[in-house]
Amino acid sequence: MVDGDGTILFAPNLGWEMVPLQHRLEEELGLPVTIDNEANAGAQGELRFGAGQHVRHLLYISAGSGIGSGIIINGELYKGARGYAGESGHMSINADGIECTCGNRGCWELYASEKSYEHRASLPSSKTPELIRHADEGHPEAIRQFEELGRYLGVGITNLVNGFNPQSVIIGGPLSDARAWLEPTLRQVVAKRTLPYHRELMEIRFAQLGSRSTMIGAAYSAISQFLSPVRVSMPVH
Ligand SMILES: [Zn+2]
Repeated sequence: MVDGDGTILFAPNLGWEMVPLQHRLEEELGLPVTIDNEANAGAQGELRFGAGQHVRHLLYISAGSGIGSGIIINGELYKGARGYAGESGHMSINADGIECTCGNRGCWELYASEKSYEHRASLPSSKTPELIRHADEGHPEAIRQFEELGRYLGVGITNLVNGFNPQSVIIGGPLSDARAWLEPTLRQVVAKRTLPYHRELMEIRFAQLGSRSTMIGAAYSAISQFLSPVRVSMPVH
């Protein structure tokens, strides 16, 4: 979670709390720095240059070591009252489920991100690229893990779709590389569980820029921040 001044309030996977990252980098580099979280940057990247071009209402889901989402409403990134919107990985999908470090129980990312590997002792690896390799070679446990992940991704996406009524849901982050195994179960769950009104005109896609959506979105944010104080007037003929 990042506030409007570029301070990292909480990055549970890095163990960071209240780190004034923007301030420190600006001091070190002597340049203006823009800070945002990975899912917001990915949403910007896909919206401006990837699968979300010409989409006004978009949810970008980044699935990897956790789950974050970037919410685009009416063509603009929605950050909430203080900039913390999109922490959908901590939306509970099981009221009495596994305890999460955030204080909640049954959080979505415990079932639909790399965190789910912890509860599967029989997996051949706990690293996504290696698991993908095993799945490619037909390892049944690896395949089952990704199919299950897809099912749980579908459960959370259903909740978000019912709440936001997006035109597009774009799935990115490291787990999107396991698309071949995730996608069928994910689509089945969403098709079965989402309210039928939402399914009309709603499409699920995978990140077009792949692992580069975050980088390109971050560059976009920095450049538009840099240019925003500049007013250019063009003569109209
Ligand atoms: Zn949580």
